[in-house]
This record gives sequence, C-alpha cells and structure tokens, in this order.
Amino acid sequence: MSDKPSFDHATLTSHGLSAGMANTVMDEIERLTAELAASRRECARLEADMNDERFVYSATCTWHGPISSAKHYSNRPTGCPHCPHCGSVLFELENEQQWNDSVEDYEKGGHPGYVAFCKWLREQSKCFRSTKDQHLKEIVEIYRKETGKDVRI
Ligand SMILES: [Zn+2]
Repeated sequence: MSDKPSFDHATLTSHGLSAGMANTVMDEIERLTAELAASRRECARLEADMNDERFVYSATCTWHGPISSAKHYSNRPTGCPHCPHCGSVLFELENEQQWNDSVEDYEKGGHPGYVAFCKWLREQSKCFRSTKDQHLKEIVEIYRKETGKDVRI
C-alpha cells in the first residue's frame, strides 16, 4: 500500500477548495506521510529489538541486561550499546543464558552468593559506576545492608 494520496492539489481545487486551503491540506498530508514513515521505521527497530536476544554488560559499572534495554549511540556508525544510566560502553553475549551460566560458574568457583548479588544489581534502577576493588567493597556493603545477604566477590 502506498502512502501517497490518490489526489493532488488540482483535484482538491476542482472540488471547490481554495488554492490556499488545498496547499494547507497537501502540506498536512506531506507532514503526516513523513510522520507515518518515521513511525514505521521505529516499529521495525522495536521489532528487531524484541527479536534480539543479545545480553550486554559493562566492565566499568554494574549494569547488565538485554540489549533492548541499552541505549545506542545512534549517531555513531558502530551503534555501540551503552549503559542506560552512566553511558559506559557494554560488552555483549549471544543471549542471557550465557550470562547466567558465567555468573553461576563464578559462584561455583568460590564466590558464594554471587548469583543473588547479580540479581539484586539488576533490580536496581541505577548502576554503580565503578567495579574497581575498593568501590566493589562499598557496593557489597550496600547489598548486605539492604538485603541481609552476603556475597564473596
Ligand atoms: Zn552504568
């Protein structure tokens, strides 16, 4: 289906519209046609996001989640995803299962409580900006205070 109207300025004036009113109608149709095209592009992007299973995480903050939740640098050719809170560039995995597997492996490797800790991090409506050792200790303290749970990093 074409977005082009099946009439033009001449058709409108032949049906009694003034030239000025016909211009207004044609301008509005042009504006709405452009808006419709932009909406269709946005729908296509959202649909692609919904089907995108990639899971992303940051090395410089604690944020992790589905790529559809990460912001993108739309004005950069790489379209590199970044943390929706602090803007850290994110690494990506094929899907969330890979993330869960690596978190579970880390816990099994001598870091009890790590799975629950990561789940708590994900539930936060913010990221913790640094994952450097000292700052990580502070994050764990906040986790202990808020949840009563413990984790060995
Ligand atoms: Zn962040």
